[in-house]
Amino acid sequence: MSIETGRPWRNWGRSESSTPAFVSRPTSVDEVIETVRFARERGLTIRPVGASHSFTAIAATDGVQLDVSAIDGLIAVDGTMVTLGAGTHLHQLPELLAPYGLALQNMGDINVQTLAGATSTGTHGTGSAFGGLATQIREVTLVTAAGELLHVSRTQNAELLPAAVLGLGALGVLVAMTIECVPAFVLRAVERPESAATVLAEWEQRIAEHDHFEFYSWPHAELVSTKTNTRMPADTPRKPLGPVQEWFDNRVMANTVFGASLEMLRLMPAMIPPMNRLSVKLEANREFSDYSWDVFSTVRTTRFREMEYALPVEHVPAALTAIHDLIAAKGWRISFPIEVRASAADDLWLSTGHGRATGYIAAHRFWKDDPTEYFREIEAIMRDHEGRPHWGKMHGRTAEDLRPAYPRFDDFLAVRDRLDPDRLFANPYLSRVLGA
Ligand SMILES: Cc1cc2nc3c(=O)[nH]c(=O)nc-3n(C[C@H](O)[C@H](O)[C@H](O)COP(=O)(O)OP(=O)(O)OC[C@H]3O[C@@H](n4cnc5c(N)ncnc54)[C@H](O)[C@@H]3O)c2cc1C
Repeated sequence: MSIETGRPWRNWGRSESSTPAFVSRPTSVDEVIETVRFARERGLTIRPVGASHSFTAIAATDGVQLDVSAIDGLIAVDGTMVTLGAGTHLHQLPELLAPYGLALQNMGDINVQTLAGATSTGTHGTGSAFGGLATQIREVTLVTAAGELLHVSRTQNAELLPAAVLGLGALGVLVAMTIECVPAFVLRAVERPESAATVLAEWEQRIAEHDHFEFYSWPHAELVSTKTNTRMPADTPRKPLGPVQEWFDNRVMANTVFGASLEMLRLMPAMIPPMNRLSVKLEANREFSDYSWDVFSTVRTTRFREMEYALPVEHVPAALTAIHDLIAAKGWRISFPIEVRASAADDLWLSTGHGRATGYIAAHRFWKDDPTEYFREIEAIMRDHEGRPHWGKMHGRTAEDLRPAYPRFDDFLAVRDRLDPDRLFANPYLSRVLGA
């Protein structure tokens, strides 16, 4: 087994870094167990890491970093139930699922995360009838802190399921996951600039009427960029973007030009408001249809930092208005749009959608801009609106003030005490949000 001396690690958003003492990249479940024993014997902590796409330090460690990306691929398919190695990256799924005519029910806006990493922080897309990825996980197999295999399903250790599928990597190392897929489908996408006032007034109606509705709210602009996706049967004739338009819209405009303009605007902040007003007009104004995974996920090459809050869905218009009022009152110039999405209520203990129909508001800053004050002030607004922070995105909350936001918080802690009494899987982020 390869356990090597650690190298400096940093996340995609360049907001966190650490230097693990050791790095392990197991290729089998036995090697995961060996890594857990290796860490225990040396009195080191251990953190599984996926694609390092969390903006928080949730995966950081100075102990043993356990990269499970080689524990990947298809293990079994039973109808729509698909069991995969937990390190499988989401972008591998279209090819793995194609022979079975299956797809993920819903997805967020990128596909580079691992299945385990994405589900562990509550990764979600948009759609008021759909929960996040973790709500589709039916069974998991973990390597526990004791170095034992623990299978959790509706029939085995069922009481652990609502904790284990969205466990912040605090309960053990996920090695296999069974996800309930759906028959493959096509999405029809309509993307438009629209009046911000109209979209806010119609927010609850839009998310109820459309399968997947979201919008980008541009600071300093009267228009928002809407995305409305409708589910169609798999045999619907597709009208995908041509390769040139796909390259121009998604690579050049959304990434290269956008990234270059963000660099330029750092030097000329007075240009941000007119530039935002121009960008929302130049943003995609198009209709196309394609396989679901090609519509849901986009490519992000412009680095940024992000904070995302989940709030009761009906609070979205007031909270978003408060953010725009804040930006105006402070005289800030903010170049990055704010993303607004929705999801169904679910019953997972640490899910941001726990027990309530949810709206999501995500604030971003270009990675070279300091987000501290912007995020801190927005966080205060989100607290006023019963907000719960995304576990993988920047926030300043602690266990004491997260407990009242999650009715099953203490139940989760009890499972943590049971599965990891010695805190083998601890790190400073988990100590902050869950307690020591
Ligand atoms: C450009 C970009 C776009 C994004 N878009 C979205 C979006 O649309 N929706 C959304 O909700 N989020 C989004 N995110 C956030 C992202 O989905 C989450 O942070 C996700 O957790 C990242 O997955 P990862 O594989 O990189 O995991 P990592 O960040 O590497 O790890 C996340 C957590 O999972 C744990 N973990 C990893 N593997 C295992 C394992 N085998 N067993 C147990 N625990 C494990 C880690 O210890 C850590 O606690 C985005 C992030 C970026 C950078």
